[in-house]
Amino acid sequence: MDVLNYINGTFSPPSNNEWIENYDPATDNLIGKVPRSSNEDLNQALVAAKNAQKNWADSDIETRASYLLKLSEKIEENIEELAFLETRDTGKPINTSLNIDIPRSALNLRFFAEFAKKQNTELFNRNGFENFVERSPLGAVACISPWNLPLYLFTWKIAPALITGNTVIAKPSEFTPTTAYMLSKFCDEVKLPPGVLNILHGLGSEVGSAIVENPSVKAVSFTGSTRVGKLIAKTCGEQMKKVSLELGGKNPFIITENANIEAAVSTAMRAAFTNQGQVCLCGSRIYIHESIYNQVKTQLIEKLKTLIPSDPKEKSSRFGSLTSKSHFDKVNNYLEMAKRDPSIKLHLFDHNIQFGNFISPALLENVPPDHAINQEEIFGPIATLQSYSSEDELINLANNTEYGLCASIYSQDKDQAKRLASKIEAGIVWINTWLERDLRTPFGGAKASGFGREGGNYALNFFTETKNICIPEEK
Ligand code: NAD
Repeated sequence: MDVLNYINGTFSPPSNNEWIENYDPATDNLIGKVPRSSNEDLNQALVAAKNAQKNWADSDIETRASYLLKLSEKIEENIEELAFLETRDTGKPINTSLNIDIPRSALNLRFFAEFAKKQNTELFNRNGFENFVERSPLGAVACISPWNLPLYLFTWKIAPALITGNTVIAKPSEFTPTTAYMLSKFCDEVKLPPGVLNILHGLGSEVGSAIVENPSVKAVSFTGSTRVGKLIAKTCGEQMKKVSLELGGKNPFIITENANIEAAVSTAMRAAFTNQGQVCLCGSRIYIHESIYNQVKTQLIEKLKTLIPSDPKEKSSRFGSLTSKSHFDKVNNYLEMAKRDPSIKLHLFDHNIQFGNFISPALLENVPPDHAINQEEIFGPIATLQSYSSEDELINLANNTEYGLCASIYSQDKDQAKRLASKIEAGIVWINTWLERDLRTPFGGAKASGFGREGGNYALNFFTETKNICIPEEK
């Protein structure tokens, strides 16, 4: 399937007629081409977004919400096709696309449509004066998303941007453009006013950075790597442009001596290997209290044997391929690094798929805390096991990376779990669970995992300018 840009309500090829090839990472088959958009396409999108912005912002919230709800319904009506396309672009099991990615994409749009309508104006009365807080849209804003959860993260950004009255220039990842293209078809079907949502495809280093650098773009909501996040922060800083950065993670998964071991093992496997380890929230460093280390390790390895890579398009598949050849090479380099080091113990059950970009999940022991494998975001199916003896040691180990996105703690002693949670440097901590999300809560990371928060009011605030208006109270 060839993908087209969606600019001003019209489907268009790139103005320079340059294209990027899109491959199915599970088969290495070419599945279509994607616009390699340039500044000219961006300029057209910006004219459209700026022209559409006033009417969109002036329309009432019920009207904007109705479009988001219609798009959400379209996603639900086309769930099977979207799931297939998501799996073909990413290599993730169809089961994951059907039950997680696509339903959550529909929910993102529905959630923000309904949540935004319930917000009340903040009022403060003091000394005979009334203060009220007005929130106004920023203008044309950018939403740039990665390849690991394509439609899921794309809709997570555009929904709050649109509901607050902004118009949007959105750029999906060049590796996984197809479901965003499908969404542009739905925009056409529900007759979203032209220019309100413009979807530009292309390379991050080209059209992506051009979007960020353009002074007409009033804010950038970015999810992706810390490396690119730093570049974007610099550009936005120079222009005093609002920026939200959801970046990488190297998250600790903690199993204390008080844990329900069966539950902890089962969730630790899910946290380490969901989406082949390609989730920013994956628990890739597993810390186990020394008193239960061997018991937990044995159970984890037993479960590892059952997690065999297979054709992600089969409904029975629970573990698919990595999302691109370049990413496969990156992850494989870490595995080779581990294999070359005789002190590292590797638990890995080889698969026998001879094509595509499959890597078996691996658990590693004896990796020093400062080793690259414990420090850098691998973003693949590799997790380390480490034992600890005291809470102080655990906290030092858990906080010993530049990242601070999330953590999970398994302990049946609630006081212990809460004590540990407070000491962990992260934006999100789960106790006796992982990936449980209430969309109203703040989502985002500390340290090199980014700044700004998404979710609920945090996202609505990001996409609006806040103005306090002070007036004498009427006597
Ligand atoms: P990436 O940074 O390479 O690319 C992300 C997006 O930015 C893509 O659309 C890409 O085309 C674009 N881009 C690349 N260079 C750009 C530039 N110079 N200017 C503007 N845009 C540019 O990331 P990726 O490899 O697509 O995604 C994986 C990363 O995303 C991992 O680090 C992962 O942890 C992170 N991630 C974070 C979260 C979170 O919520 N914190 C969620 C999912 C993924």
